[in-house]
Amino acid sequence: MSRFWNDIVHRLTPYVPGEQPALTHPIKLNTNENPYPPSPRVVEAIRRELGEDGASLRKYPDPTARALREAVAAHHGVRVEQVFAGNGSDEVLAHAFQALLKRDLPIRFPDITYSFYPVYAQLYGVAYETIPLDAAFAVDIDAYRAPNGGVLLPNPNAPTGRALPLADIEALLKANPEVPVIVDEAYVDFGAQSAVSLIDAYPNLLVVQTTSKARSLAGMRVGFAFGDAALIEGLTRVKDSFNSYPLDRLAQAAALASYEDRAWFEESCRKVVESRERLNARLQSLGFDVVPSAANFVFAKHAAHDAAALAAALRQREIFVRHFKLPRIDQHLRISIGTDAECDALTAALEELIGG
Ligand code: PMP
Repeated sequence: MSRFWNDIVHRLTPYVPGEQPALTHPIKLNTNENPYPPSPRVVEAIRRELGEDGASLRKYPDPTARALREAVAAHHGVRVEQVFAGNGSDEVLAHAFQALLKRDLPIRFPDITYSFYPVYAQLYGVAYETIPLDAAFAVDIDAYRAPNGGVLLPNPNAPTGRALPLADIEALLKANPEVPVIVDEAYVDFGAQSAVSLIDAYPNLLVVQTTSKARSLAGMRVGFAFGDAALIEGLTRVKDSFNSYPLDRLAQAAALASYEDRAWFEESCRKVVESRERLNARLQSLGFDVVPSAANFVFAKHAAHDAAALAAALRQREIFVRHFKLPRIDQHLRISIGTDAECDALTAALEELIGG
């Protein structure tokens, strides 16, 4: 605390990311990272960009990330003007709050969702109301009908992993034609339907994606937004009033190469989905209640064992899972999908802890 802080900083409750343990070989199932490396083409592209002596780093990167946005636009069959690139989807979401969500009425998002949303709302002075998920953690889209100042939903939702069908997203758009509807698709590649296909039809739709999960590039910090060119221009205006160069040269080269290797991306998603179903079945046989997941994590609760105690006991064994001390979910664990060997180590430890 400092007397030099302004009122906004005094009032902030910052987001707390999952722990990055300083251990040589932790089993890290707490931040939804991909257990597999990115495409070898990504590594080659970074080397190429760096060159022998790193001379390219003397120069600023392309402030518009044009080549990357063109590759991503081609991948999704949209126009480059419909694509925004930012430093991780967290930054893209922050710009969306600032550019699009400051409205007369409160915005709406679920009571159980990505815990960064209320933090952005506080930082940018955006009023919000949370809409309870039902007992099975499903989103009731009828509760998101206007009047409101905008709608923000992750699909699949986090930390539950539950997905909404595209028809429900479209119903939501039809019910809210006058306000921005933001769909955060950080985990879409693991089993949900993307709403990018709807951006031509709905000028109020912004779809946010990331290279952090399905493309194994969390360390590079590259995220996108897709939407009507005018919405994208709004984000660009905020970006150019904040930081002209959010994506460095290596990040742009790496992300572009990742979009050039569709086979690697698809195979990596397939492996994660297969391991998810395997882990899901093993957790159920250990007595866990597991929420049906379309993401690269599962959300599970044991009837007889306290979630915080389980997380702490796993941590003792250098196995990291995420526990949120929040209403309605403090008996759940969010477990990222690791390699099969990592998932096996987790289930072996759980068997010991709870008696399999
Ligand atoms: N949205 C959701 C729902 C997430 O879980 C995350 C990851 N913490 C993000 C966005 C941000 O991801 P990144 O900034 O790495 O793109």
